Amino acid sequence: MKVLIVGSGGREHAIAWAVSQSAKADKIYCAPGNAGIEEYAECVNIGAMEFDKLVAFAKEKEIDLTIIGMDDPLVGGVVDAFEAEGLRVFGPRKNAAIIEGSKAFSKDLMKKYNIPTAGYENFDSDEKALAYLETAKFPIVLKADGLALGKGVLICNTLEEAKEGVKTIMEDKKFGDAGNRMVIEEFMTGREVSVLAFCDGKTIKCMTSAQDHKRAKDGDQGLNTGGMGTFSPSPFYTKEVEEFCEKYVYQPTMDAMAAEGRPFVGILFTGLMLTEDGPKVLEYNARFGDPEAQVVLPRMKNDIIDVMEACIDGRLDEIDLQFEDNAAVCVVLASDGYPVSYEKGYVINGLEEFKKHDGYYCFHAGTKRTDKGIVTNGGRVLGVTAKGTNLKEARKNAYAATEWVTFENKYMRHDIGKAIDDVEA
Ligand code: ATP
Repeated sequence: MKVLIVGSGGREHAIAWAVSQSAKADKIYCAPGNAGIEEYAECVNIGAMEFDKLVAFAKEKEIDLTIIGMDDPLVGGVVDAFEAEGLRVFGPRKNAAIIEGSKAFSKDLMKKYNIPTAGYENFDSDEKALAYLETAKFPIVLKADGLALGKGVLICNTLEEAKEGVKTIMEDKKFGDAGNRMVIEEFMTGREVSVLAFCDGKTIKCMTSAQDHKRAKDGDQGLNTGGMGTFSPSPFYTKEVEEFCEKYVYQPTMDAMAAEGRPFVGILFTGLMLTEDGPKVLEYNARFGDPEAQVVLPRMKNDIIDVMEACIDGRLDEIDLQFEDNAAVCVVLASDGYPVSYEKGYVINGLEEFKKHDGYYCFHAGTKRTDKGIVTNGGRVLGVTAKGTNLKEARKNAYAATEWVTFENKYMRHDIGKAIDDVEA
């Protein structure tokens, strides 16, 4: 069959790799794709938000399955645009992608259906938000309602900082229309775990867990980024935590969305914080995490197309989702200066090494093919993933593989997966 993948990051590279492993995929396209995805797919120059062009392309090429990787098109209704033309597409419709597209919506959903999350209030005016802060406890968390490239969350330690934060979000509109509304939320502490799941509108099947590293610098210092690395599984996601979440989070979320007339089909990403009072939902995303996809997909045993088709057809209950009994670590190689400002256009060497080693992957994020070769073209450049029999070995392997790749301005964190030591100590 012919498959079209929509997106251009490391996540879409990992999806393209997984699709390339499927016996069912004869031809893969990616719009717009990147220099790494070219290895598995024919990249076409259509942007992820160009719905008319994507639909026309899918019709012209008689695409059998389109997979949407990114949040913006999902929240914008790309799935509805494909379905309106009778095309088969994997991802939630607009009315379900709102679970990621509006934090106020997802908080209200959790409250209504008793899904554990931090206490909060939603605001549509800065005056009300400022008045609320006067009696609030600190630290406190401010969140722009809409999509903000993972940057719309401000943790404020004092009333002054919080007032400034409200101004940034609602008056200065730093995150654009995403700040028309905002959520003010209780501050929680604990370890964070990400759980991705396939969903068919009724049934939800979780993949193996992962843990992200959002801050730019070692020791979780520096600014928030799209993610500097990740590991899977998370040793903190114990059987007990899993059972709790199955009972109180995952299926209740599926049922809540269905009850609201918004059945969720696609990938549901649940960001959890393991607090002293038990696991609580930090956020939902309506697609694979990036870089979580880069450690979860290489460990999946199933044919990804089989699972996605089962989701679309509402028969996910027939699928026995299985993961390898090993571990994977992904270290992001970034351009020095990310997430603020950085140079691009440096030649990347050493990529061919990955072809010589099984269990090692180099997923491209910000790269570009030029006549000089493949060059850096973004803040996050590559995701170097390695598997191992356990997390320690996977981490050793991943860091060894980061040495294979060289480019000017190469920057990475050196403590991805270090938390693993806390468990084994
Ligand atoms: P992304 O989509 O990139 O994961 P986002 O903008 O949707 O990010 P959240 O995941 O809600 O935002 O929050 C980003 C980070 O902020 C979380 O990973 C967590 O570290 C921190 N955070 C969010 N809410 C809270 C909270 N209530 N208490 C403490 N920390 C929080």
